[in-house]
Amino acid sequence: MTTYTKEQVKNLVDGRLDWDTTTRMLTMPKDHERFRLYLEVLQERVSWPDRIVLPLGPALYIVQSATSKRWVTKCRCGHEFCDYRENWKLFANIHVRDTPESMREVYPTLLAPDTRWQVYREYYCPHCATQLDVEAPTPWYPVIHDFEPDIDTFYRDWLEMPLPERVD
Ligand SMILES: [Zn+2]
Repeated sequence: MTTYTKEQVKNLVDGRLDWDTTTRMLTMPKDHERFRLYLEVLQERVSWPDRIVLPLGPALYIVQSATSKRWVTKCRCGHEFCDYRENWKLFANIHVRDTPESMREVYPTLLAPDTRWQVYREYYCPHCATQLDVEAPTPWYPVIHDFEPDIDTFYRDWLEMPLPERVD
């Protein structure tokens, strides 16, 4: 199975990977060595000592607290949202686009969704204001709890790495 250099994974994270390598990566089965390198690259770019267990997005991670060993959801800036099993969105700053005027900041008038049927909810870090997620639900729909990854199985069966210690 193909593995990649750390330099290539760094370039992937930065969006600077050459197109040939990118397409080869996209069409090959994912290999766990690449994911390990990916975690390493992400870890080197954050300023805090907590270990990244799983990235949830470009600026959001599940981490193992360096002091308590509890797992929490954390922003790249260091802001901690909550226990990793809770819905971090409920602790974020939320901007809702539910009027034609607010949609016009995103879409030309005639291309915007009808806000009686679809709204945008934008989730921001309360500390650094990075936009961490956007949902496009119907107006009455509850805040979506994205997914609860089975991290134990992921580490054991797929990464074949020891699971970082977890204090609940
Ligand atoms: Zn932040």
